[in-house]
Amino acid sequence: MPRVLVRTTGCQMNVHDSEKIENLLLHRGWSRASALEQADLLVINTCSIREKAEHHLYSELGLLREWKAAGAGRVLAVGGCVAQQEGDALLRRFPHLDFVFGTHSLRWVPAMADAARGGSRAARVEQTRSLDRFDWPERHPDFPDATPGRASLTVMEGCDMFCSFCIVPRTRGREISRPADGILAEARALVAGGACELTLLGQTVNAYGRHDRRRRESGRTGGGDPGAAMTIGFADLLHDLARIPGLRRIRYTSPHPSFFDTALVRAHAEIEALCPHVHLPVQSGSDAVLAHMRRRYTRRDFLASVEALRAARPELVLTTDLIVGFPGETDRDFCETLSLVREVGFVDSFSFKYSPRPGTPAAELSDSPAPELAQERLEELQALQREQTLTYHRSRIGQRTEVLVSGPSRRGGLQLSGRDPAHRVVNFEAPNGVVVAPGSLQAVDVVEASPHSLIGSLAGPHRLPTTQIVGGRVRTGRSLP
Ligand code: SF4
Repeated sequence: MPRVLVRTTGCQMNVHDSEKIENLLLHRGWSRASALEQADLLVINTCSIREKAEHHLYSELGLLREWKAAGAGRVLAVGGCVAQQEGDALLRRFPHLDFVFGTHSLRWVPAMADAARGGSRAARVEQTRSLDRFDWPERHPDFPDATPGRASLTVMEGCDMFCSFCIVPRTRGREISRPADGILAEARALVAGGACELTLLGQTVNAYGRHDRRRRESGRTGGGDPGAAMTIGFADLLHDLARIPGLRRIRYTSPHPSFFDTALVRAHAEIEALCPHVHLPVQSGSDAVLAHMRRRYTRRDFLASVEALRAARPELVLTTDLIVGFPGETDRDFCETLSLVREVGFVDSFSFKYSPRPGTPAAELSDSPAPELAQERLEELQALQREQTLTYHRSRIGQRTEVLVSGPSRRGGLQLSGRDPAHRVVNFEAPNGVVVAPGSLQAVDVVEASPHSLIGSLAGPHRLPTTQIVGGRVRTGRSLP
């Protein structure tokens, strides 16, 4: 049985695409390799959102020349956003690379791998508007559960927002939403398979179905996308998912600030299973920079969405993405970003120095702050964020929370780790004799706070075994009483 290893960089969408590729290969008779040396096929699923990730890929490919030469019949493949962008230029640049597949060509990987084993080299990067991209075989029995109890599910792909700095609309293609019945069927299957938390994925996930709705409203459903009549509003989708028995938590990522309509805001008040956490990328606090970024909202619009969400769900935790050093960003613009971070009270953020991506309008702009200044700004922003994260974590001391256990903690020892509804990492110890199964929901009392996590102990009245080992298999009560 040939063995495959998949390496992934980038966003949750890429991670999920890698799962689809591996699952597809398992269904076609491949098995998983646990190390590079065992692999007959290495697939690198790439990200091109920042220059650094792309450069890293090129040096990795250089190093893999030796791996390829050391084993007859080894196959090397590159997929994802860099593959979509570069296509067969990658084959020309790296003669030891066997095949390249774009973001719309995942389903061709098994056939391309077979052809490569027969000696052919090819690139497939055509983009389609076919809904086939949402149809995947069920999870193969040998596919390990990397995140017990949790699963991701694609609801839309592509992006029509064309922010000036972003390559995604080119690498992922135009927005297309998946028919609701397929989403609900997959969600039911995932829950039946043991997931109690689902994360809905899409580049602008809360734009789900918007084009179809517009087409329906204008009576133009005939000639447009085949899915036009089959999507529903995003808030309706959340309500339908929340009715699935056993589904305890729903998340979605990444939303765009422009698509929080009344129904979605209300859903945060009405749907208990909808987690009180939204990762809401703002990118900058300055209206001038937001306009240059073509983000299509102002600081005021963003704050209005935040206020509405907080009114609907007062305990809501917000996290965000931020870019510093965008062309034209002045000290004043940067101070506005700092003040927005304070005003919203983001609990966490991913922040980066702007990196121009070839082919985007922002790459043509010339007045970027000096790299040292951008670095200083990044450090100042990250210091502020660290302070806010710790303050929030400290505010949680003394509270009881519910943790979806992922497994042993990175802190080592006997600690376990998981995430709570606010998406905070919680590390905790279970008393001697208590077996806590990954994938189970556990009540934990928060007793300490660190910059990166909450630290707790299994909640007092529940210090009883919640799982048993029977015949070598863990049997678990899904949740503590
Ligand atoms: S909304 Fe903007 S940043 Fe997000 S994927 Fe689309 S173009 Fe890129």
